Amino acid sequence: MQFKLLRQAINGKHIPRMWRPHELKDSYDVVIIGGGAHGLACAYYLAKEHGITNVAVLEKRYIGSGGSGRNTTIIRSNYLTPEGVRFYDESVKLYEDMSAEFEFNVMFSQRGHLTLAHTDSAVRTMRRRAEVNQLQGVDSRLIFPDEIKRLCPPIDISDHPRYPILGALYHPPGGIIRHDAVVWGYAQHADRMGVHIHQLTEVTGITVEDNRVTGVDTTSGHIKTGTVLNATAGWCSTIANMAGVRLPITTFPLQACVTEPLKPFLDVIIVSGSLHVYVSQSDRGELVMGASVDPHASYSMLGSLAFIEGLAGHILELFPSLRHVRIMRQWAGLCDMTPDFSPIMGVTGVDGFLVDVGWGTWGFKASPVSGRRMAELIATGQTPDLIHPFRLARFYEDDLVGEKGAASVGH
Ligand SMILES: Cc1cc2nc3c(=O)[nH]c(=O)nc-3n(C[C@H](O)[C@H](O)[C@H](O)COP(=O)(O)OP(=O)(O)OC[C@H]3O[C@@H](n4cnc5c(N)ncnc54)[C@H](O)[C@@H]3O)c2cc1C
Repeated sequence: MQFKLLRQAINGKHIPRMWRPHELKDSYDVVIIGGGAHGLACAYYLAKEHGITNVAVLEKRYIGSGGSGRNTTIIRSNYLTPEGVRFYDESVKLYEDMSAEFEFNVMFSQRGHLTLAHTDSAVRTMRRRAEVNQLQGVDSRLIFPDEIKRLCPPIDISDHPRYPILGALYHPPGGIIRHDAVVWGYAQHADRMGVHIHQLTEVTGITVEDNRVTGVDTTSGHIKTGTVLNATAGWCSTIANMAGVRLPITTFPLQACVTEPLKPFLDVIIVSGSLHVYVSQSDRGELVMGASVDPHASYSMLGSLAFIEGLAGHILELFPSLRHVRIMRQWAGLCDMTPDFSPIMGVTGVDGFLVDVGWGTWGFKASPVSGRRMAELIATGQTPDLIHPFRLARFYEDDLVGEKGAASVGH
Protein backbone atom coordinates (compact mmCIF):
# COMPACT_ATOMS: atom_id res chain seq x y z
CA MET A 1 0.00 0.00 0.00
CA GLN A 2 2.76 2.47 0.97
CA PHE A 3 4.58 1.79 -2.35
CA LYS A 4 1.34 2.34 -4.25
CA LEU A 5 0.86 5.71 -2.50
CA LEU A 6 4.47 6.71 -3.20
CA ARG A 7 4.15 5.76 -6.88
CA GLN A 8 0.94 7.77 -7.17
CA ALA A 9 2.60 10.78 -5.51
CA ILE A 10 5.67 10.62 -7.82
CA ASN A 11 3.54 10.17 -10.95
CA GLY A 12 1.28 13.03 -9.87
CA LYS A 13 -1.75 10.76 -10.14
CA HIS A 14 -4.82 11.37 -8.02
CA ILE A 15 -5.73 8.68 -5.51
CA PRO A 16 -8.92 7.08 -6.88
CA ARG A 17 -12.15 7.79 -4.98
CA MET A 18 -12.98 5.11 -2.42
CA TRP A 19 -16.69 5.01 -3.36
CA ARG A 20 -18.67 6.60 -6.17
CA PRO A 21 -21.90 8.60 -6.31
CA HIS A 22 -24.77 6.99 -8.28
CA GLU A 23 -28.21 7.95 -9.54
CA LEU A 24 -30.87 6.65 -7.15
CA LYS A 25 -32.64 3.73 -8.88
CA ASP A 26 -36.39 3.31 -8.44
CA SER A 27 -35.98 -0.18 -7.02
CA TYR A 28 -33.40 -2.23 -5.09
CA ASP A 29 -33.47 -5.79 -3.73
CA VAL A 30 -32.28 -4.57 -0.33
CA VAL A 31 -32.35 -1.06 1.17
CA ILE A 32 -30.15 -0.42 4.18
CA ILE A 33 -30.98 2.72 6.17
CA GLY A 34 -27.88 4.16 7.89
CA GLY A 35 -24.39 4.59 6.48
CA GLY A 36 -22.51 3.68 9.63
CA ALA A 37 -20.15 0.73 10.05
CA HIS A 38 -23.11 -1.63 10.65
CA GLY A 39 -25.08 -0.72 7.53
CA LEU A 40 -21.97 -0.69 5.34
CA ALA A 41 -20.68 -3.98 6.78
CA CYS A 42 -24.01 -5.64 6.01
CA ALA A 43 -23.89 -4.32 2.42
CA TYR A 44 -20.31 -5.58 2.10
CA TYR A 45 -21.15 -9.10 3.31
CA LEU A 46 -24.35 -9.28 1.21
CA ALA A 47 -22.21 -8.70 -1.87
CA LYS A 48 -19.13 -10.65 -0.81
CA GLU A 49 -20.63 -13.79 0.70
CA HIS A 50 -24.05 -13.98 -0.99
CA GLY A 51 -23.61 -12.25 -4.37
CA ILE A 52 -26.47 -9.82 -3.56
CA THR A 53 -25.34 -6.52 -5.06
CA ASN A 54 -28.57 -4.72 -5.99
CA VAL A 55 -28.32 -2.98 -2.62
CA ALA A 56 -28.66 0.69 -1.60
CA VAL A 57 -27.21 2.17 1.58
CA LEU A 58 -29.10 5.38 2.38
CA GLU A 59 -27.38 7.91 4.64
CA LYS A 60 -28.98 11.23 5.58
CA ARG A 61 -25.64 13.00 6.13
CA TYR A 62 -22.24 11.51 5.22
CA ILE A 63 -21.08 7.98 5.95
CA GLY A 64 -19.60 7.62 9.41
CA SER A 65 -21.32 10.81 10.64
CA GLY A 66 -23.16 8.88 13.39
CA GLY A 67 -21.65 6.81 16.20
CA SER A 68 -19.28 5.07 13.78
CA GLY A 69 -17.22 8.24 13.41
CA ARG A 70 -17.63 9.43 17.01
CA ASN A 71 -16.75 6.41 19.13
CA THR A 72 -13.62 5.78 21.16
CA THR A 73 -12.82 2.63 19.13
CA ILE A 74 -12.47 0.08 21.92
CA ILE A 75 -12.78 -3.50 20.67
CA ARG A 76 -13.05 -6.44 23.08
CA SER A 77 -14.97 -9.65 23.74
CA ASN A 78 -14.70 -10.01 27.55
CA TYR A 79 -18.47 -9.90 28.12
CA LEU A 80 -20.53 -11.45 30.90
CA THR A 81 -22.89 -13.91 29.18
CA PRO A 82 -21.75 -16.87 27.03
CA GLU A 83 -24.01 -15.58 24.21
CA GLY A 84 -22.35 -12.16 24.36
CA VAL A 85 -18.80 -13.51 24.58
CA ARG A 86 -19.26 -15.83 21.57
CA PHE A 87 -20.82 -13.06 19.50
CA TYR A 88 -18.22 -10.35 20.24
CA ASP A 89 -15.37 -12.84 19.89
CA GLU A 90 -16.29 -13.53 16.26
CA SER A 91 -16.10 -9.76 15.74
CA VAL A 92 -12.61 -9.49 17.26
CA LYS A 93 -11.46 -12.25 14.88
CA LEU A 94 -12.96 -10.44 11.88
CA TYR A 95 -11.19 -7.26 12.99
CA GLU A 96 -7.90 -9.17 13.19
CA ASP A 97 -8.19 -10.04 9.47
CA MET A 98 -9.52 -6.66 8.35
CA SER A 99 -6.29 -4.97 7.20
CA ALA A 100 -5.47 -7.94 4.97
CA GLU A 101 -9.04 -8.09 3.67
CA PHE A 102 -9.21 -4.37 2.81
CA GLU A 103 -5.55 -4.20 1.68
CA PHE A 104 -4.91 -1.16 3.84
CA ASN A 105 -3.92 -0.66 7.43
CA VAL A 106 -6.92 -0.13 9.73
CA MET A 107 -4.42 0.23 12.60
CA PHE A 108 -5.95 -2.38 14.88
CA SER A 109 -3.70 -2.31 17.95
CA GLN A 110 -4.42 -5.21 20.32
CA ARG A 111 -2.65 -3.67 23.30
CA GLY A 112 -4.66 -5.21 26.14
CA HIS A 113 -7.73 -4.00 28.03
CA LEU A 114 -7.96 -3.64 31.82
CA THR A 115 -11.28 -3.22 33.63
CA LEU A 116 -10.43 -2.06 37.15
CA ALA A 117 -12.19 -3.31 40.25
CA HIS A 118 -12.33 -0.95 43.25
CA THR A 119 -14.68 -2.96 45.50
CA ASP A 120 -15.00 -6.58 46.63
CA SER A 121 -18.20 -7.01 44.64
CA ALA A 122 -16.48 -5.70 41.50
CA VAL A 123 -13.65 -8.22 42.04
CA ARG A 124 -16.30 -10.97 42.22
CA THR A 125 -17.86 -9.80 38.94
CA MET A 126 -14.41 -9.75 37.26
CA ARG A 127 -13.72 -13.28 38.49
CA ARG A 128 -17.05 -14.44 37.07
CA ARG A 129 -16.42 -12.70 33.74
CA ALA A 130 -12.92 -14.23 33.54
CA GLU A 131 -14.38 -17.71 34.01
CA VAL A 132 -17.18 -17.21 31.45
CA ASN A 133 -14.60 -15.79 29.01
CA GLN A 134 -12.17 -18.68 29.48
CA LEU A 135 -14.94 -21.25 29.01
CA GLN A 136 -15.61 -19.64 25.61
CA GLY A 137 -11.88 -19.74 24.75
CA VAL A 138 -11.36 -15.99 25.24
CA ASP A 139 -8.09 -14.78 26.78
CA SER A 140 -9.14 -12.97 29.96
CA ARG A 141 -8.10 -13.24 33.61
CA LEU A 142 -8.26 -11.57 36.99
CA ILE A 143 -5.05 -9.75 37.97
CA PHE A 144 -3.99 -7.83 41.09
CA PRO A 145 -2.32 -4.44 41.76
CA ASP A 146 1.33 -5.55 41.27
CA GLU A 147 0.62 -6.86 37.77
CA ILE A 148 -1.58 -3.85 36.99
CA LYS A 149 1.35 -1.58 37.88
CA ARG A 150 3.71 -3.62 35.66
CA LEU A 151 1.31 -3.29 32.71
CA CYS A 152 0.55 0.37 33.42
CA PRO A 153 3.37 2.09 35.38
CA PRO A 154 1.77 5.59 35.65
CA ILE A 155 -1.37 4.34 37.43
CA ASP A 156 -1.82 5.03 41.17
CA ILE A 157 -2.27 1.70 42.98
CA SER A 158 -1.70 3.18 46.46
CA ASP A 159 -4.41 3.25 49.13
CA HIS A 160 -4.60 7.08 49.00
CA PRO A 161 -7.39 7.50 46.39
CA ARG A 162 -11.06 7.49 47.38
CA TYR A 163 -11.50 4.16 45.53
CA PRO A 164 -8.20 2.22 45.70
CA ILE A 165 -7.62 -0.37 42.97
CA LEU A 166 -8.14 -3.95 44.22
CA GLY A 167 -7.81 -5.88 40.95
CA ALA A 168 -8.65 -5.88 37.25
CA LEU A 169 -10.02 -8.07 34.50
CA TYR A 170 -7.12 -8.27 32.03
CA HIS A 171 -8.09 -9.03 28.40
CA PRO A 172 -4.94 -9.08 26.20
CA PRO A 173 -6.77 -9.20 22.78
CA GLY A 174 -8.69 -5.98 23.56
CA GLY A 175 -7.57 -3.04 21.43
CA ILE A 176 -8.25 0.16 19.53
CA ILE A 177 -8.55 0.82 15.79
CA ARG A 178 -9.05 3.72 13.31
CA HIS A 179 -12.84 3.96 13.10
CA ASP A 180 -12.82 6.02 9.87
CA ALA A 181 -10.70 3.36 8.19
CA VAL A 182 -13.26 0.70 9.11
CA VAL A 183 -16.16 2.75 7.69
CA TRP A 184 -14.28 3.69 4.52
CA GLY A 185 -12.98 0.14 4.02
CA TYR A 186 -16.47 -1.33 4.06
CA ALA A 187 -17.71 1.47 1.80
CA GLN A 188 -14.88 1.02 -0.69
CA HIS A 189 -15.25 -2.74 -1.00
CA ALA A 190 -19.06 -2.70 -1.05
CA ASP A 191 -18.90 -0.06 -3.80
CA ARG A 192 -16.43 -2.13 -5.83
CA MET A 193 -18.84 -5.07 -5.76
CA GLY A 194 -21.74 -2.96 -7.03
CA VAL A 195 -23.50 -1.64 -3.90
CA HIS A 196 -24.86 1.94 -4.25
CA ILE A 197 -24.04 4.31 -1.39
CA HIS A 198 -26.32 7.36 -1.34
CA GLN A 199 -25.19 10.11 1.02
CA LEU A 200 -27.41 13.14 1.78
CA THR A 201 -30.43 10.87 1.26
CA GLU A 202 -32.78 10.86 4.23
CA VAL A 203 -35.49 8.25 4.67
CA THR A 204 -38.76 10.01 5.48
CA GLY A 205 -41.22 7.12 5.34
CA ILE A 206 -41.59 3.36 4.91
CA THR A 207 -44.48 1.89 2.94
CA VAL A 208 -46.06 -1.25 4.35
CA GLU A 209 -48.92 -3.10 2.60
CA ASP A 210 -50.64 -6.15 4.14
CA ASN A 211 -47.96 -6.20 6.85
CA ARG A 212 -45.15 -6.38 4.25
CA VAL A 213 -42.58 -3.74 3.38
CA THR A 214 -42.95 -2.47 -0.20
CA GLY A 215 -40.70 0.58 -0.30
CA VAL A 216 -39.14 3.63 1.32
CA ASP A 217 -39.69 7.35 0.79
CA THR A 218 -36.58 9.46 0.72
CA THR A 219 -35.68 13.11 0.20
CA SER A 220 -34.55 12.04 -3.32
CA GLY A 221 -37.68 10.05 -4.23
CA HIS A 222 -39.47 6.75 -3.62
CA ILE A 223 -37.67 3.38 -3.85
CA LYS A 224 -39.45 0.05 -4.28
CA THR A 225 -38.00 -2.79 -2.23
CA GLY A 226 -39.10 -5.91 -0.37
CA THR A 227 -36.31 -5.79 2.24
CA VAL A 228 -35.37 -2.89 4.51
CA LEU A 229 -32.71 -3.02 7.20
CA ASN A 230 -32.85 -0.40 9.95
CA ALA A 231 -29.19 0.26 10.90
CA THR A 232 -29.60 3.77 12.28
CA ALA A 233 -28.46 3.24 15.92
CA GLY A 234 -29.32 6.44 17.85
CA TRP A 235 -32.14 7.26 15.41
CA CYS A 236 -33.48 3.68 15.12
CA SER A 237 -36.78 4.22 16.97
CA THR A 238 -37.71 7.03 14.56
CA ILE A 239 -37.21 4.65 11.60
CA ALA A 240 -39.00 1.75 13.33
CA ASN A 241 -41.98 4.07 13.99
CA MET A 242 -42.25 4.64 10.22
CA ALA A 243 -42.85 0.89 9.78
CA GLY A 244 -45.19 0.70 12.80
CA VAL A 245 -42.69 -1.31 14.90
CA ARG A 246 -42.10 -0.40 18.57
CA LEU A 247 -38.61 -0.92 19.97
CA PRO A 248 -37.70 -1.05 23.68
CA ILE A 249 -34.99 1.56 23.08
CA THR A 250 -34.28 5.03 24.50
CA THR A 251 -31.69 7.34 22.97
CA PHE A 252 -29.14 9.08 25.21
CA PRO A 253 -26.14 11.26 24.28
CA LEU A 254 -22.66 9.94 25.09
CA GLN A 255 -19.68 12.29 25.28
CA ALA A 256 -15.95 11.79 24.79
CA CYS A 257 -12.87 13.99 24.58
CA VAL A 258 -9.15 14.01 23.73
CA THR A 259 -6.19 15.76 25.35
CA GLU A 260 -3.31 17.49 23.68
CA PRO A 261 -0.77 14.94 22.33
CA LEU A 262 1.69 13.46 24.85
CA LYS A 263 4.73 11.24 24.43
CA PRO A 264 3.66 7.58 24.44
CA PHE A 265 3.20 6.52 28.08
CA LEU A 266 0.04 4.39 28.17
CA ASP A 267 0.31 1.00 26.45
CA VAL A 268 -3.00 -0.46 27.59
CA ILE A 269 -6.65 0.58 27.70
CA ILE A 270 -7.82 1.43 31.23
CA VAL A 271 -11.50 1.28 32.21
CA SER A 272 -13.04 1.98 35.61
CA GLY A 273 -16.73 1.20 36.01
CA SER A 274 -16.81 2.62 39.54
CA LEU A 275 -15.21 5.93 38.50
CA HIS A 276 -17.22 5.94 35.23
CA VAL A 277 -14.18 6.66 33.03
CA TYR A 278 -11.99 4.98 30.43
CA VAL A 279 -8.82 6.08 28.67
CA SER A 280 -6.44 4.95 25.92
CA GLN A 281 -3.61 6.73 24.10
CA SER A 282 -3.99 7.11 20.35
CA ASP A 283 -1.16 6.71 17.84
CA ARG A 284 -1.04 10.54 17.69
CA GLY A 285 -0.33 10.64 21.43
CA GLU A 286 -3.71 12.08 22.45
CA LEU A 287 -5.49 10.54 25.42
CA VAL A 288 -8.94 9.43 24.24
CA MET A 289 -11.33 9.46 27.20
CA GLY A 290 -14.98 8.79 27.83
CA ALA A 291 -17.55 8.32 30.58
CA SER A 292 -21.16 7.19 30.98
CA VAL A 293 -24.12 8.45 28.95
CA ASP A 294 -25.63 11.84 29.81
CA PRO A 295 -28.30 11.58 32.52
CA HIS A 296 -31.22 12.63 30.26
CA ALA A 297 -32.64 10.98 27.13
CA SER A 298 -32.11 13.34 24.18
CA TYR A 299 -31.10 13.58 20.51
CA SER A 300 -28.69 16.43 21.27
CA MET A 301 -25.05 16.03 20.25
CA LEU A 302 -23.68 18.94 22.30
CA GLY A 303 -20.80 18.63 24.75
CA SER A 304 -21.11 19.90 28.34
CA LEU A 305 -18.80 21.34 30.99
CA ALA A 306 -20.29 18.96 33.57
CA PHE A 307 -18.96 16.00 31.57
CA ILE A 308 -15.42 17.42 31.38
CA GLU A 309 -15.37 18.35 35.08
CA GLY A 310 -16.53 14.91 36.24
CA LEU A 311 -14.24 13.05 33.87
CA ALA A 312 -11.13 15.11 34.71
CA GLY A 313 -11.62 14.57 38.45
CA HIS A 314 -11.91 10.82 38.05
CA ILE A 315 -9.03 10.47 35.58
CA LEU A 316 -6.80 12.34 38.05
CA GLU A 317 -7.67 9.83 40.76
CA LEU A 318 -6.13 7.14 38.52
CA PHE A 319 -3.32 9.22 36.98
CA PRO A 320 -2.38 12.16 39.28
CA SER A 321 0.58 12.97 37.02
CA LEU A 322 -1.80 14.23 34.31
CA ARG A 323 -2.87 17.33 36.29
CA HIS A 324 -1.28 19.82 33.85
CA VAL A 325 -2.53 18.14 30.67
CA ARG A 326 -5.06 20.13 28.63
CA ILE A 327 -8.24 18.83 26.99
CA MET A 328 -8.14 19.64 23.29
CA ARG A 329 -11.67 18.83 22.07
CA GLN A 330 -14.87 17.10 23.11
CA TRP A 331 -17.87 15.77 21.21
CA ALA A 332 -21.00 13.64 21.61
CA GLY A 333 -22.89 10.94 19.75
CA LEU A 334 -26.23 9.19 20.23
CA CYS A 335 -26.66 5.82 21.94
CA ASP A 336 -29.69 3.56 21.42
CA MET A 337 -29.85 1.99 24.90
CA THR A 338 -31.71 -1.28 25.52
CA PRO A 339 -32.97 -2.50 28.93
CA ASP A 340 -30.52 -5.45 29.04
CA PHE A 341 -27.49 -3.70 27.46
CA SER A 342 -27.54 -6.13 24.51
CA PRO A 343 -28.35 -5.35 20.87
CA ILE A 344 -31.52 -6.20 18.94
CA MET A 345 -30.95 -7.99 15.65
CA GLY A 346 -33.23 -9.79 13.24
CA VAL A 347 -36.82 -9.90 12.06
CA THR A 348 -39.72 -7.81 13.36
CA GLY A 349 -43.50 -8.20 13.22
CA VAL A 350 -43.49 -6.59 9.73
CA ASP A 351 -42.33 -8.88 6.91
CA GLY A 352 -39.22 -7.59 5.17
CA PHE A 353 -38.45 -5.02 7.89
CA LEU A 354 -35.34 -6.06 9.82
CA VAL A 355 -33.40 -4.36 12.59
CA ASP A 356 -29.72 -4.17 13.53
CA VAL A 357 -30.04 -1.76 16.45
CA GLY A 358 -29.69 -1.35 20.22
CA TRP A 359 -25.97 -0.69 19.98
CA GLY A 360 -25.88 1.75 22.86
CA THR A 361 -22.37 2.56 23.98
CA TRP A 362 -20.93 -0.78 22.84
CA GLY A 363 -21.77 -1.27 19.15
CA PHE A 364 -18.72 -0.28 17.13
CA LYS A 365 -16.86 -3.45 18.11
CA ALA A 366 -19.73 -5.53 16.72
CA SER A 367 -19.86 -3.97 13.24
CA PRO A 368 -18.16 -6.88 11.39
CA VAL A 369 -20.06 -9.71 13.07
CA SER A 370 -23.48 -8.09 12.97
CA GLY A 371 -22.97 -7.02 9.35
CA ARG A 372 -21.97 -10.55 8.42
CA ARG A 373 -24.74 -12.33 10.33
CA MET A 374 -27.48 -9.90 9.28
CA ALA A 375 -26.41 -10.41 5.66
CA GLU A 376 -26.71 -14.17 6.20
CA LEU A 377 -30.23 -13.71 7.61
CA ILE A 378 -31.29 -11.50 4.67
CA ALA A 379 -29.80 -13.91 2.11
CA THR A 380 -31.08 -17.19 3.60
CA GLY A 381 -34.18 -16.17 5.55
CA GLN A 382 -32.78 -18.12 8.54
CA THR A 383 -31.64 -16.45 11.75
CA PRO A 384 -28.02 -17.55 12.44
CA ASP A 385 -27.57 -19.23 15.86
CA LEU A 386 -25.02 -16.59 16.88
CA ILE A 387 -27.58 -13.75 16.76
CA HIS A 388 -30.70 -15.69 17.78
CA PRO A 389 -30.30 -14.67 21.48
CA PHE A 390 -30.52 -11.01 20.42
CA ARG A 391 -33.92 -11.27 18.67
CA LEU A 392 -36.57 -8.61 19.35
CA ALA A 393 -38.96 -11.31 20.62
CA ARG A 394 -36.76 -11.88 23.71
CA PHE A 395 -38.50 -8.93 25.35
CA TYR A 396 -41.88 -10.69 25.03
CA GLU A 397 -40.45 -14.11 25.89
CA ASP A 398 -38.74 -12.92 29.09
CA ASP A 399 -35.38 -14.16 27.80
CA LEU A 400 -33.07 -11.15 28.20
CA VAL A 401 -29.28 -11.24 27.71
CA GLY A 402 -28.11 -9.12 30.67
CA GLU A 403 -24.80 -7.45 29.86
CA LYS A 404 -24.98 -4.41 32.16
CA GLY A 405 -22.27 -5.90 34.35
CA ALA A 406 -19.89 -5.93 31.38
CA ALA A 407 -20.57 -2.37 30.22
CA SER A 408 -17.36 -0.34 30.23
CA VAL A 409 -18.67 2.18 32.69
CA GLY A 410 -21.70 2.30 34.95
CA HIS A 411 -24.78 3.93 33.39
C1 LIG B 1 -18.67 8.93 22.33
C2 LIG B 1 -18.93 7.49 21.97
C3 LIG B 1 -17.99 6.53 22.29
C4 LIG B 1 -18.22 5.19 21.95
N1 LIG B 1 -17.25 4.28 22.18
C5 LIG B 1 -17.39 3.00 21.74
C6 LIG B 1 -16.32 2.09 21.87
O1 LIG B 1 -15.24 2.44 22.37
N2 LIG B 1 -16.51 0.82 21.43
C7 LIG B 1 -17.68 0.42 20.88
O2 LIG B 1 -17.80 -0.75 20.51
N3 LIG B 1 -18.72 1.29 20.71
C8 LIG B 1 -18.61 2.56 21.12
N4 LIG B 1 -19.62 3.47 20.95
C9 LIG B 1 -20.90 3.02 20.34
C10 LIG B 1 -20.77 2.97 18.82
O3 LIG B 1 -20.25 4.18 18.34
C11 LIG B 1 -22.12 2.72 18.14
O4 LIG B 1 -22.81 1.70 18.81
C12 LIG B 1 -21.91 2.28 16.69
O5 LIG B 1 -21.01 3.15 16.04
C13 LIG B 1 -23.22 2.21 15.94
O6 LIG B 1 -22.91 2.02 14.57
P1 LIG B 1 -24.06 2.00 13.50
O7 LIG B 1 -23.44 1.78 12.19
O8 LIG B 1 -25.13 1.05 13.94
O9 LIG B 1 -24.73 3.43 13.63
P2 LIG B 1 -24.19 4.89 13.22
O10 LIG B 1 -22.75 4.91 12.96
O11 LIG B 1 -24.73 5.84 14.25
O12 LIG B 1 -24.92 5.12 11.85
C14 LIG B 1 -26.29 5.36 11.75
C15 LIG B 1 -26.49 6.31 10.59
O13 LIG B 1 -27.89 6.41 10.30
C16 LIG B 1 -28.07 7.68 9.73
N5 LIG B 1 -29.50 7.99 9.75
C17 LIG B 1 -30.27 8.27 10.82
N6 LIG B 1 -31.54 8.52 10.44
C18 LIG B 1 -31.57 8.39 9.10
C19 LIG B 1 -32.58 8.55 8.11
N7 LIG B 1 -33.84 8.91 8.43
N8 LIG B 1 -32.26 8.34 6.80
C20 LIG B 1 -30.99 7.97 6.44
N9 LIG B 1 -29.99 7.85 7.34
C21 LIG B 1 -30.28 8.04 8.65
C22 LIG B 1 -27.23 8.59 10.61
O14 LIG B 1 -26.91 9.81 9.97
C23 LIG B 1 -26.01 7.73 10.88
O15 LIG B 1 -24.90 8.02 10.04
C24 LIG B 1 -19.45 4.80 21.30
C25 LIG B 1 -20.40 5.78 20.99
C26 LIG B 1 -20.14 7.12 21.30
C27 LIG B 1 -21.17 8.15 20.94
